[in-house]
Amino acid sequence: MSNRQTETDVILIGAGIMSATLGTLLKELVPDWKITVFEKLEGPGEESSNEWNNAGTGHSALCELNYTVEKPDGSLDISKAINVNEQFQISRQFWSYLVNRNIIRNPKDFIMPLPHISLVEGEKDVTFLRKRFEALSNNPLFQGMEFSEDNGKLAEWMPLIMEGRRVDEPMAATKIDSGTDVNFGALTRILFDHLKNQKVDIKYKHQVDDIKRASNGLWELKVWNMATGAIERHSAKFVFIGGGGGSLPLLQKTGIPESRHIGGFPVSGLFLVCNNPDVVEQHHAKVYGKAKVGAPPMSVPHLDTRYIDDKKSLLFGPFAGFTPKFLKTGSNMDLINSVKPNNLVTMLAAGAKNIPLTKYLIEQLMLSKEQRIEELREFIPNARSEDWDIIVAGQRVQVIKDTVAGGKGTLQFGTEVVSAADGSVAALLGASPGASTAVHVMLEVIKKCFPQHVKAWEPKIMEMIPSYGLKLSENQELFNELHAFTTWALGLGGESSMAIHENEERKTVSH
Ligand SMILES: Cc1cc2nc3c(=O)[nH]c(=O)nc-3n(C[C@H](O)[C@H](O)[C@H](O)COP(=O)(O)OP(=O)(O)OC[C@H]3O[C@@H](n4cnc5c(N)ncnc54)[C@H](O)[C@@H]3O)c2cc1C
Repeated sequence: MSNRQTETDVILIGAGIMSATLGTLLKELVPDWKITVFEKLEGPGEESSNEWNNAGTGHSALCELNYTVEKPDGSLDISKAINVNEQFQISRQFWSYLVNRNIIRNPKDFIMPLPHISLVEGEKDVTFLRKRFEALSNNPLFQGMEFSEDNGKLAEWMPLIMEGRRVDEPMAATKIDSGTDVNFGALTRILFDHLKNQKVDIKYKHQVDDIKRASNGLWELKVWNMATGAIERHSAKFVFIGGGGGSLPLLQKTGIPESRHIGGFPVSGLFLVCNNPDVVEQHHAKVYGKAKVGAPPMSVPHLDTRYIDDKKSLLFGPFAGFTPKFLKTGSNMDLINSVKPNNLVTMLAAGAKNIPLTKYLIEQLMLSKEQRIEELREFIPNARSEDWDIIVAGQRVQVIKDTVAGGKGTLQFGTEVVSAADGSVAALLGASPGASTAVHVMLEVIKKCFPQHVKAWEPKIMEMIPSYGLKLSENQELFNELHAFTTWALGLGGESSMAIHENEERKTVSH
């Protein structure tokens, strides 16, 4: 048993999309900082970031109905949809920068253009969708969105969904062609290959078991080298806890005041995947419906074309469920072990408040394959059970905390960066909108944890993200320019977008 000890500038825990993004950003900003990564699995992007563990939607609120909320007076609040879209534009710009720098050689390896469609049935939801279309379609971020109540048009957009359908109620859909399918697993692997070339020390099969502040002010990690069985000690000035569902227990171990009164609510997931190429060929879109009453926002059903390993496939789901694990590869003790004296009241309050949700998730978990196929038939009336297999998706751990609006033990559906007051440690909790907004969220980590450097880093940040600090929804011209540029750089458009972007100057924007 060795007692290996090292000291470094930055430690990233976990080799998912979040650590991949933060490591890549930091290497661009301060190439000489030493970075070490600890990942308990054998490679990068094996948990939630893996392509089979998430839905691969480039979340930009083009089709996800839960980002537009109907207010009591009947009007729509579109602020969340705009925020999510703005955040995705930041990802598009950073990824385009990486393509330009040849860090990503072929964008098609991780991102593909794909129409995003919202589909509803029934007078009430048709009215909602029409209002949503009217509210969004004048905004630069949503230009190109089409609305139709014509079943013939819907059949053109979604032949597989409309074929054999008994239409008793009015139906409507919106479609926007600028949507994407993103293989976050592939992107994570590309970025970790790059980090390895940049001399980042990446340690797979190394599990972080404890994090303590040492007397010299550094954070000291106790790490289990799973290959040799040795317990190692590694120190750093800054630690990012990017453990996905495994972040909460590690954050609790730091003992920082900001880690108190926070809990986690694990939600598991299943997808149906189509194994019949003839069926796969009949669908070309991500089609999002409305969540059932009582269902959490992350279980909105959708039928997605996916591009994985150069192959087109179809995914339906996710079916949410309840297991006490915080990671797909986690332990059944994760939930119990996360209950501490400081979050006991928060957790008990959350338990009491969320009995209907827990009941719903357990019921969902108990569904048979045939019952799941019945739900699929709401999308594909002619679906045949033998064409579809069940696969287990990643785990999401939703944040539970005490809020002014919701009181003790309120369940949150977004992501949260929790950091120490001195910025020496930060953790990312929650899973939505998720990987799509990784660049925005990691820039938040940088702003919170390195405020003393941000001014000096701004020119480089603006080179990577030309719209940094600006709202594209309020700058139509800039949006058009950057959207056309990222469409070209990421190979999301046709020949025409290429011609527009022969001019290199378009990549710099005056603030
Ligand atoms: C069903 C489902 C559907 C989703 N759909 C979408 C979608 O369509 N679009 C989207 O943008 N996002 C989606 N998401 C969310 C997205 O997958 C996540 O937000 C994202 O992958 C999280 O990345 P991460 O790096 O934080 O975590 P992960 O990818 O889970 O990586 C964390 C890593 O940390 C490691 N780790 C944990 N604890 C330790 C430890 N103690 N020591 C060492 N290593 C450790 C884990 O092994 C893992 O490799 C979905 C998620 C799920 C579950």
